[in-house]
Amino acid sequence: MAAAATMATSGSARKRLLKEEDMTKVEFETSEEVDVTPTFDTMGLREDLLRGIYAYGFEKPSAIQQRAIKQIIKGRDVIAQSQSGTGKTATFSISVLQCLDIQVRETQALILAPTRELAVQIQKGLLALGDYMNVQCHACIGGTNVGEDIRKLDYGQHVVAATLPHEILEMTNKFMTDPIRILVKRDELTLEGIKQFFVAVEREEWKFDTLCDLYDTLTITQAVIFCNTKRKVDWLTEKMREANFTVSSMHGDMPQKERESIMKEFRSGASRVLISTDVWARGLDVPQVSLIINYDLPNNRELYIHRIGRSGRYGRKGVAINFVKNDDIRILRDIEQYYSTQIDEMPMNVADLI
Ligand code: ADP
Ligand code: MG
Repeated sequence: MAAAATMATSGSARKRLLKEEDMTKVEFETSEEVDVTPTFDTMGLREDLLRGIYAYGFEKPSAIQQRAIKQIIKGRDVIAQSQSGTGKTATFSISVLQCLDIQVRETQALILAPTRELAVQIQKGLLALGDYMNVQCHACIGGTNVGEDIRKLDYGQHVVAATLPHEILEMTNKFMTDPIRILVKRDELTLEGIKQFFVAVEREEWKFDTLCDLYDTLTITQAVIFCNTKRKVDWLTEKMREANFTVSSMHGDMPQKERESIMKEFRSGASRVLISTDVWARGLDVPQVSLIINYDLPNNRELYIHRIGRSGRYGRKGVAINFVKNDDIRILRDIEQYYSTQIDEMPMNVADLI
């Protein structure tokens, strides 16, 4: 493998996700001069890949794509950072595809991702972008049939996406030689486009009724409800169903097959409300999700941005609603201050904002 690329959603984010028209105007701090390539046409990409990109619906590269793709293709190691939903996954996917020799049926790229769902999502994206290249890409993930993995790898895969724990991912920095850093300026890290609200529920017991009252709002498009523990996810799912609400749920203790079918159901829109732990919070992209509920406030600030970054993907608008108990208000204010953002009390007409 010639180049290694590390993509990070910036956690030290400020304000809100960028609007579509601003998506290409982000300011970056780079460790050296980096060319900005404003179109996919002028990146020197192979014809069949270019076709795949346009067929996938991309017209113009996002800010990070305008900077990082060319560097990775050149063989440079790259550390890239930008807000959630601004096209990082597509950045390394396009770069990987460009660097493959399709005639050689050997693994030429290995993509490491922290969760299984993310690995599968990356694999799907690669296959779609590489649709005209006849690319072979396989996701090796825990909880599935290893024999099947081996058979597919024997057949010859150009790209393999692998699940890997976080600690190991962090180590990858050690493999890099003189990486170019393309980092978003601190001021640019925003939550723009995502309206954030809180509901003062005072006590834990009152969260449930509040959620039921909001159910119609949840189903306007699609919503994800975050709880802090797997037990709580199971409990809330059960309780919602008892009250005759339709909900899906997912967490890391479920068998892989089940997680896959739940994701499929949710992506297709067949289910509209998903209750989940933070297993869902990192990197997953379901464009229709425009509402996030923090049934429990996340345990740290980083998770907050990962969770609410699930709405408002690629400049679409999104709404995040935080349920806060009396003793949570301090945490909410801390998040607000840390991201220099504003979290107002939820208005009556919140449904109009989605
Ligand atoms: P990130 O990895 O930074 O969170 P993704 O690569 O997952 O972002 O992209 C977020 C969404 O935006 C996806 O639905 C993706 O298909 C879409 N997207 C990415 N790049 C472009 C582009 N250049 N034009 C239009 N849509 C894009
Ligand atoms: Mg991503």
